[in-house]
Amino acid sequence: MSELKRTKIEHILKNHSQLGIGKTLNIRGWVRTKRGNKNVVFIAVNDGSIIHSIQVVADLADFDEELMKLVTTGSCISVTGTLVESPGSGQAVEIHAKEIEVYGTADTETYPLQKKGHTLEFLREIAHLRPRTNTFGAVFRIRHHVAFAIHKYFNDRGFYYLHTPIITGSDAEGAGAMFHVTTLDLNNIPKTEEGHVNFGEDFFGKSTNLTVSGQLEGELGAMALSEIYTFGPTFRAENSNTPRHLAEFWMIEPEMAFYDITDNMDLAEDFVKYIIRYVLDHCFDDLEFLQKMYDNELIPRLNFVIENKFEKLAYTEAIEILTASGQKFEFPVSWGIDLQAEHERYLVEKHFKKPVILTDYPKDIKAFYMKQNDDGKTVRAMDVLFPRIGEIIGGSQREESYEKLHSRIAELGIPEKDMWWYLETRKFGTAPHSGFGLGFERMILFLTGMANIRDVIPFPRTPQNAEF
Ligand code: ATP
Ligand code: MN
Repeated sequence: MSELKRTKIEHILKNHSQLGIGKTLNIRGWVRTKRGNKNVVFIAVNDGSIIHSIQVVADLADFDEELMKLVTTGSCISVTGTLVESPGSGQAVEIHAKEIEVYGTADTETYPLQKKGHTLEFLREIAHLRPRTNTFGAVFRIRHHVAFAIHKYFNDRGFYYLHTPIITGSDAEGAGAMFHVTTLDLNNIPKTEEGHVNFGEDFFGKSTNLTVSGQLEGELGAMALSEIYTFGPTFRAENSNTPRHLAEFWMIEPEMAFYDITDNMDLAEDFVKYIIRYVLDHCFDDLEFLQKMYDNELIPRLNFVIENKFEKLAYTEAIEILTASGQKFEFPVSWGIDLQAEHERYLVEKHFKKPVILTDYPKDIKAFYMKQNDDGKTVRAMDVLFPRIGEIIGGSQREESYEKLHSRIAELGIPEKDMWWYLETRKFGTAPHSGFGLGFERMILFLTGMANIRDVIPFPRTPQNAEF
């Protein structure tokens, strides 16, 4: 190992004037390309700290021939050398190598990322190596910055990060099909006298699942700490193979006491605009790369969303617009339907041409906990709809009346034994409150211009796919 402390490539590329030409530095990273002639080789080294690689120039006369053969695309090396101005175009500085050490070779015949230009589909099959591409480096750096920005946003506003359980004993969260969690021997399942699975013998002494949402527990926190948020993994066993659904995804769920639906909408709009601004301020190199490679409207679209006020309208008005549109939809439109992505995108992309917040949905297509409107037909729901994505946020003002919530639960046949603790928040010191859930990966899709949600999470979980 080099005696010298390693300097990250990002630091060198951004601070080369302060570091000073002629300075001796050590860099470590993975070889992206190597080219050259009989006398000199140019090695592009990337350490993931920034989208750009640094160019290492090595005079072959200074190095052992056998060692240089090991420096191939995909190998991992440590280089100590002098920082020099680069005569070539494309970079301001480069490293003139004095010492090279090979940490790990990568066989040129079998290393799958030998050539550039692989399809995203192919890269999904090598999810263990795709972080080494420019594309996934950019996406995962952006993902990190967004996660950080989310914590910063809430922390700066006095919201507390509440950890809600991943294993849940309630199967009535109502947001989607669930994955069972069990330690029972599946080849020898204990049965009750009536022939049902005897969960009494299971690890928790009852049937348990992976959570589909932290909201219900989040509400318990908001009824004490006023403003909380969750940020954790959620799991939905929905067998939908779409470019917008994962079986395991991350969700951010703020929950606020004393917020009505208007406060809730204002927070959602401010929050997503903050995230977009943060990414424009902190990830510009990565955005530029993604724009060039995948989506030439990316940065203008991000700016457009921050600059425009979101359009707010009721579900019923949206149905009228869709019906009057003359547009042929795969799923026909009528009052009472659950809007499909095609409808949401029509409203956002064709009609209003900006993000839309829809409110006051029919109660039958929304969850039991949403506040009932006086019309007896609709609830105080709000969905935030984005260009290219459709629904990015789903939220509502919550029903704070014990009687109304209790009768809705009974009406829907949700077992009260699963819900007693939730109902108690309405029994003891209930308060008007609201919250929403932002799908983290849908936000990253929007921010990166990627088209498929499998390409914005390091290890996607989808039906029939959990290899890595
Ligand atoms: P959709 O109708 O798009 O399936 P939903 O109405 O079931 O979503 P909610 O229960 O409201 O979703 O969840 C809140 C947010 O979580 C959604 O607005 C979306 O951003 C995100 N989300 C929901 N399901 C998934 C999923 N399977 N994969 C990734 N993100 C999801
Ligand atoms: Mn929703």
